[in-house]
Amino acid sequence: MSSLYIAGKWTGARDGERREIRCPSDGTLVAEVDEAGHADAVAAVAAAREAFDDGAWPGASSLDRGRLLHTVADLLERDKAEVARAESLDTGKRLVESEYDVDDVVGVFRHYGNIAAEDPGRLVDTGRPDVVSRIVHEPMGVCALITPWNYPLLQTSWKVAPALAAGNSFVLKPSELTPHTAIHLMRLLEEAGVPAGVANLVLGAGAAVGSPLVEDPRVDMVSFTGGLATGKRIMAAASETVKKVALELGGKNPNVVFADCDMEAALDFALTAVFLHSGQVCSAGARLVVEESIRDDFVDEVVRRAERIRLGGPFDEQAESGPLISAGHREKVEAYVAAGLEEGAQLRCGGRRPDDPALADGFYYLPTVLDRCHTGMSVVADESFGPVLTVETFSGEDEAIATANDSIYGLAGAVWTENAGRAERVASRLRMGTVWINDYHPYVPQAEWGGYKQSGFGRELGTAGLEEYRETKHIWHNVRPAPQRWFQG
Ligand code: NAD
Repeated sequence: MSSLYIAGKWTGARDGERREIRCPSDGTLVAEVDEAGHADAVAAVAAAREAFDDGAWPGASSLDRGRLLHTVADLLERDKAEVARAESLDTGKRLVESEYDVDDVVGVFRHYGNIAAEDPGRLVDTGRPDVVSRIVHEPMGVCALITPWNYPLLQTSWKVAPALAAGNSFVLKPSELTPHTAIHLMRLLEEAGVPAGVANLVLGAGAAVGSPLVEDPRVDMVSFTGGLATGKRIMAAASETVKKVALELGGKNPNVVFADCDMEAALDFALTAVFLHSGQVCSAGARLVVEESIRDDFVDEVVRRAERIRLGGPFDEQAESGPLISAGHREKVEAYVAAGLEEGAQLRCGGRRPDDPALADGFYYLPTVLDRCHTGMSVVADESFGPVLTVETFSGEDEAIATANDSIYGLAGAVWTENAGRAERVASRLRMGTVWINDYHPYVPQAEWGGYKQSGFGRELGTAGLEEYRETKHIWHNVRPAPQRWFQG
């Protein structure tokens, strides 16, 4: 079955290339998909450009666009089991987590279905009775949407839903490692009646297929979610044609625990913060920043619980966490842990692959806790994106804030304390796009998501997530034109 979707048709790659997708939990073949190249990317941009310039979608009423997004949500609910299974096979994540993800994706489509008609513009008071002046919002045009492998469908929905709600056309390029839920989504968009050329899908590697999208002058905007290094490359390449760029990059997120916290809840969430999805979460609380006075007991208990986390494949109902995405990624995580140990960190648990022969064919890595860490270590400063918790300590509020903020990233973080005043003071001084107080990880599509500092710029979700995909135009209408005689000639 062809897996590229260009100009409303399913097609193979022009040069016939294919790619095998294997499940990271045991290496079994999931399926083969078409591997696009430069020419496919260029054709997809041409289709999106034509659909935007000459098609009906940008001019469709916001009511119709919203209705279509609700239809997509209905279809996703219908196909939930199949979509969740496909996501688990591509990523290796537990089926129950993929099911939660599909529920979230439905919520994202419904949210943008609800607000598609929001903020149609405004009249401007110019003080001139002969002038009607108004602000209108228009779609950006052709959007290149480039997404990562850790939450493949969820990250895609954060872009596709608002891009459609605002009336854009787009070319989607998901991670080459996890294409199947993007393929399924395109089938649902087709079934829901998205006009040909409005939604296009190319699959393949970043350099071969992503770069041509970023460089093409017919693309108006690039929305990218992925790693910092790729984000920098994309920003530089997009500058050649002065495209609008929205970047959702990495994070190295502090989970700040004060001695006066609800200890049982803080302990429980300290594990969820970092070990959910084996740490492959942009907002993972991979830095435990704990008050010195409770450090020993708190870390001992985190270690005791981390050692008991059960690893396994997506359909193993006893498993609590799954594999890493690839052999290469596991090696990267191993290198960060080795560097941390060389720099003086103390290994409290994990730090190696599991012994269980049943897991030998997957890319598993044991939940790892490194104590006695500081921000000068690469394992603290950089995003290892694996199940690795580093422990730093502080004394007092100012030191907690300074330590937490000592990072090039600013995506998310949390503060745990029963002192409400302290909670608010710390939250307001953390330089991050999301701060949780006495919680970790929840998000809702109604609330904006995005990074400070090198975690990127632009916002997804909320209403700002829709504004990203809109241009703002001022229309000045002189209803009683008369010569001004500025020049006498
Ligand atoms: P990545 O940067 O390697 O790849 C992301 C996407 O970019 C993929 O589709 C890839 O093929 C493509 N790509 C690579 N090189 C490209 C190029 N030169 N031009 C255009 N496209 C290119 O990231 P990844 O390993 O897939 O994902 C993990 C990263 O994503 C982590 O850093 C994580 O923090 C980040 N992430 C951030 C958020 C957020 O909301 N901020 C959410 C999820 C993941």
